[in-house]
Amino acid sequence: MKLSLIIPVYNEEGNLDNLFCAIEKTMKGLKRSWEVIFVDDGSVDKSLSILQGLAEQDPKHVSVVVFRRNYGQTAALAAGIDHSNGDTIILMDADMQNDPADIPMLLAKLDEGYDLVSGWRIERKDNAITRNFPSRVGNWLISRVTGVHLHDYGCTLKAYRRGALEGFRLYGEMHRFIPVYAASVGAKIAEIPVNHYPRISGKTKYGLERTVKVILDLFTVKFLVAFGAKPIYLFGGTGLGLMAVSAVIFVILVLRRIFSAVSVMGSPLFQMSAMFFILGFQSMLMGLIAELLVRTYHESQRKPTYTVRSIIRGGKKRQ
Ligand code: UDP
Ligand code: MG
Repeated sequence: MKLSLIIPVYNEEGNLDNLFCAIEKTMKGLKRSWEVIFVDDGSVDKSLSILQGLAEQDPKHVSVVVFRRNYGQTAALAAGIDHSNGDTIILMDADMQNDPADIPMLLAKLDEGYDLVSGWRIERKDNAITRNFPSRVGNWLISRVTGVHLHDYGCTLKAYRRGALEGFRLYGEMHRFIPVYAASVGAKIAEIPVNHYPRISGKTKYGLERTVKVILDLFTVKFLVAFGAKPIYLFGGTGLGLMAVSAVIFVILVLRRIFSAVSVMGSPLFQMSAMFFILGFQSMLMGLIAELLVRTYHESQRKPTYTVRSIIRGGKKRQ
């Protein structure tokens, strides 16, 4: 069972040597084969040359993927995953805020039969107002909306079975939503408390603006997970609802015309009825276009609409 550690690096020159020492120390105690893949996300400090040094010093364990420019943490993590070959994958930050010493605990939990073990920074050491408070609200909201209950979506330190990461691509700032996608393809998820330390060297790359992005991403994720394969259920459902409202208003108008001789055309309700009908009809049409897009999406990438955990053939498990 090989372990791949994936670490995105953006201007972390002051942290890399300590980080690698801590990783080596933990890995020596683990007794399983491992690799660490650093992804240099367009750093403009000495990070890249330090990483090159580490790769020369320990070519057996260290690989470095170098981006041409800064693409963001999610892209860096995705590239690391694509270039790794372990069956178990651990994502973590390069800034020493996560603790490599937590890795054995995450692995032990994974071995209990989970597909994803999420780190939970119970005592998070970041700015209380711009980071910790929005994060609490964010975690509550994501848990409520998606039905996948975790205390700390934002903690990068998480362990995954490779299978739990297959079947979806990561866009934008979406790495925090991996557990939601994983749950949607049937992953079993556990959560354990992990250490967290204040940043000693370098600066955080994020501030309050991240909250807005997370909320927008949540819309996309919810839509993709709940309706990604059947958008007509959302658009068509809304469309039918609006057309039903339109019909009710129209019936009221006709009844008023018959029983109290109020003109249909003279009432603002008539315009409302027409508006709801048009909106509803448009929504249905949008749903149909979305259905076409979904087919192109799945078929162009040969993406199946299901995921298989294992296959038993001739009495034996094959996967
Ligand atoms: N990071 C990256 N690309 C970016 C921003 C951040 O690779 O554009 C890396 C960064 O070097 C660190 C991790 O992502 O290893 C988390 O970043 P940071 O510590 O700034 O986030 P915070 O801990 O404040 O949420
Ligand atoms: Mg950090």
